[in-house]
Amino acid sequence: MTAYQVLARRWRPQRFEDLVGQDVVVRTLRNALSSGQIAHAYLFSGLRGVGKTTVARLLAKALNCEKGPTPEPCGECGACQDIAAGSSLDVHEIDAASNRGIDDIRELREVARVLPVRDRFRVFILDEAHQLSREAFAALLKILEEPPAHVVFILASTEKDKFPATILSRCLQVDFRPIPADLVAGRLAQVAESEGFELTLGATQLIARATEGSLRDALSLLDRVRAFAEGTVDENAVAEVVGLPPFEVVLALWRALEGGDVAAALGLVRAEERSGRDPAALYEQLVQLVHAALLLATDATAPAPFPTAHRAAIAESAARLGPALLVRLLALALEGKGLVAAAEKPGVAVAVAIGRLALWPRLQRVEALLAGEPAASTGGAPAPPARSAPPAVPPPAPAAGAPGARLAAALEAMGEHLLAGRVSSVREVAVVGDTVVLRCGGLPASTRKSLRDAVETLAGAARRAGLGERVEVDEDGAPARPRDQGVRARVEADEGVQRVLEVFGGRVESVEEKP
Ligand SMILES: [Zn+2]
Repeated sequence: MTAYQVLARRWRPQRFEDLVGQDVVVRTLRNALSSGQIAHAYLFSGLRGVGKTTVARLLAKALNCEKGPTPEPCGECGACQDIAAGSSLDVHEIDAASNRGIDDIRELREVARVLPVRDRFRVFILDEAHQLSREAFAALLKILEEPPAHVVFILASTEKDKFPATILSRCLQVDFRPIPADLVAGRLAQVAESEGFELTLGATQLIARATEGSLRDALSLLDRVRAFAEGTVDENAVAEVVGLPPFEVVLALWRALEGGDVAAALGLVRAEERSGRDPAALYEQLVQLVHAALLLATDATAPAPFPTAHRAAIAESAARLGPALLVRLLALALEGKGLVAAAEKPGVAVAVAIGRLALWPRLQRVEALLAGEPAASTGGAPAPPARSAPPAVPPPAPAAGAPGARLAAALEAMGEHLLAGRVSSVREVAVVGDTVVLRCGGLPASTRKSLRDAVETLAGAARRAGLGERVEVDEDGAPARPRDQGVRARVEADEGVQRVLEVFGGRVESVEEKP
């Protein structure tokens, strides 16, 4: 029985052309090799798992190949084979994290002085080189200041900003970028095909998304999922291993937010917590979905790292909302991300962040109304569910004016002229939730009684005016204090204020004038 070799190892590229997603790096190095420009020190920087050490070994091969230095190492000579097997006497791989002291570098300096055993160069690959101590950096600098002709250093690091400027200035700096998700996904599909196991497209995309541009991490994850799944590796197996919410949940959450349904959105968050998964992971998935929607809104053919079956649903939302709104929504979602990351209890922070997002369709409606668009054609997200009215009631009168005036107008339209007159004499008509409150303090007892007796008719008028379902006659409610009256009237007559009240419900509680 042969030992299982992990995929990341077995699929480590042995030629420059097999590298995934590092075209700029490869072109830079190949051009340098073709023109014989060989630096004595290179600094490879970039995220983990994007190919730094792999390229360092390829560069070592290119330098030491019997047919080299060449951009196309043969892969067959002794030098190429020893380097691939990790047994070359002239290529030294050193983990700087565990050999970070001055003595380690002094020892290295001694070795560097000695000519190569067989090959053209002595190549030192220092992994995680930013971990060297200050003294070790100083000793390294001495070598780099006057490097022996047969020595090449390749420093690899995830944290370029930790290097002293004196070292940086003596290195040819090569930046490795995160590998785009669709390239990682494509590579995974290729690996699965060659290895002879079934891997769904959705699974490749999910793995690529979860490992954020690190091909090595993606291959390791594929190893784990393959060990877990029986037969075909699909997106559910990946979600299970990674601890991600099923995509259906993410999509349901998105739908709830799009419809401004706060209760449904928070219900999904709670259900996710109850199922033992991390609500922060759900939030992260949501942010990625909004991002994907934005990409799709600007380019319908953009790669969306989501199961293909759901791509159409996301694209449809994206087209409906448009890029401008999605940018704002994404900005809001990213703000929430900071909140979630900093929270001790992510569940609470996720609820707050998602609650905020769920309110955005209403904000959007206010903006549209303030911009003078008619309420019915706000475009974008559907309005929150309208108050349901009994079918017998005629359609509401156009919503304009203060609640009192609208109620009176509806009564006039119903032929209730007397009642309309009485309502007009009420000092304050307020809308509280779905109830219209007539504050009758200060009115003659007979007027108050007439209003009280007509409460059913008034409710019909309130529904007709689109103000609410019920009418309450508050006989003690004091009218607003007289000195408020002028300002209050101005505020209540303000169109912007009226529209805010119209969309959110509520009433003007008090009015204060700032000097
Ligand atoms: Zn060779």
